[in-house]
Amino acid sequence: MFGMKSDGRRSFILVLSAVLLSGFLLTSLLSYSVSKSSIRDAILDQELPLTSDTIYSEIQKDLIRPILISSMMSTDTFLRDWVLDGEKNIPQITKYLSEVKERYGAVTSFFVSEHSRVYYHPSGILKKVREDEPRDTWYFRVRTMQTPYEINVDPDFGNRDALTIFINYRVYDYDNRFIGATGVGLTVDAVRNMINDYQARYQRDIYFVKPDGAIVLFASRFGHPETSIRTIDGLGSIADSILKRNTGSYQYLMNGKNHLLNVRFIPELNWYLFVEKIEDDALITIRNTLYLNILICLGISAVVIFIVWLTVSRYQSRLEEMANSDRLTGLRNRHAFEILMPQTISEAVRSKTAFAILMIDIDHFKHINDSHGHIAGDQYLQAIAGIIRETVRESDIVFRWGGEEFLAILKGCGAVDALTVAEKLRTAIENHAFAEPVTVSIGVAVWREGYSPDALIARADDALYTAKKNGRNRVCIDERAA
Ligand code: GH3
Ligand code: MG
Ligand code: MG
Repeated sequence: MFGMKSDGRRSFILVLSAVLLSGFLLTSLLSYSVSKSSIRDAILDQELPLTSDTIYSEIQKDLIRPILISSMMSTDTFLRDWVLDGEKNIPQITKYLSEVKERYGAVTSFFVSEHSRVYYHPSGILKKVREDEPRDTWYFRVRTMQTPYEINVDPDFGNRDALTIFINYRVYDYDNRFIGATGVGLTVDAVRNMINDYQARYQRDIYFVKPDGAIVLFASRFGHPETSIRTIDGLGSIADSILKRNTGSYQYLMNGKNHLLNVRFIPELNWYLFVEKIEDDALITIRNTLYLNILICLGISAVVIFIVWLTVSRYQSRLEEMANSDRLTGLRNRHAFEILMPQTISEAVRSKTAFAILMIDIDHFKHINDSHGHIAGDQYLQAIAGIIRETVRESDIVFRWGGEEFLAILKGCGAVDALTVAEKLRTAIENHAFAEPVTVSIGVAVWREGYSPDALIARADDALYTAKKNGRNRVCIDERAA
């Protein structure tokens, strides 16, 4: 009805929606990014280092027993006596080695004699170690080393499915002279099983890297198909700085995904332990929470906006109603007429229908006021307003035009119909059981195309004047229209 006002309402609703939605969205995104960074910190500072600790201690545990066994072999009196005795009875040493191997569940056991350079196996197959043979370099390293033993992962021996770690112990005679090297070889299956388990349960990639960057040991379902960290997309560029330090936390992008990485150097193996996790995998839950949050926010916003819209609309139409109606009679006032009259005219033009107006004035109303008082006069006005409202059709519009004057727009009425309604109204008021009988005079004017509201009212006024002049309590029609 009021173009300007509903525009104002629309922009108010728009601003409110923008404020609500941007506020909700901002808090959702903020809490998402806070959770995201705290999850990232938890992974980098706790989860990955903890996994690394567990694996490291498992490795140490796995190595302790073989080191102990090798140590016992290196001081075994049988072994030393047998060597000092000139390495005569080969089956004896073979039996000894295979017994050690069987008893302790090692992959292999061995003794290399410094005197004969013979490599003794549990299987009894003999060979000699040679300084110019690359596979035998380990022996010549052990021969001159200062520590009692070393842990060696033989790159030639080890294949990807059964990697073997050797414990190489120095053996001395009773005068503390070096007489050879002994020890056992063991698989790292236990470690491998553990990293498989971690991989499956916690979606972590666990692998071991040599100081040159080569990947040596990893889970069966491994995320990196490469054999060196230097050729891994994203990781390659930070490989040098990783391998320069003993421990550290890193992040790198691979295939558009952020990888969180913890690195620790394991001195016993001379390997680096890499534990990493794809950040996105850890964020699935909070990302779903974000989506749910946004959905809830949208729902709440919609409900709030709807309620506000309803309230504002209701409040506004109440205001409009108050501004357009008469307090005493509840009829519409002159202000409303100014709006509704042009609308009625354009409706009539559009639908090519007629309409008429009635100008109604109470006869000798001054007298009513004078003899019964102003308050009683008001009650007469209310009663007459009610009779007018009841007499005309629902679609007709009734106004309080002035003090004791009323105006009715009769839609779809030509002269004949308008006169009928006016007459009906006049008799209804005349016959109404007031304390003191009251009559009205009515002027009728029929709208013709081209009439302005003012012209139409002037015609009704003229007719009313005629009715008053001719003795009141009657209906007159503008003669030009009749
Ligand atoms: P007539 O129209 O028949 O010529 O005589 P009249 O006595 O009705 O004359 P007029 O229309 O000039 O008088 C209007 C009177 O109506 C004057 C005023 O005291 C009274 N009046 C106007 N508004 C109100 C109102 O709100 N309440 C009451 N009680 N009286 C009103
Ligand atoms: Mg009057
Ligand atoms: Mg009057």
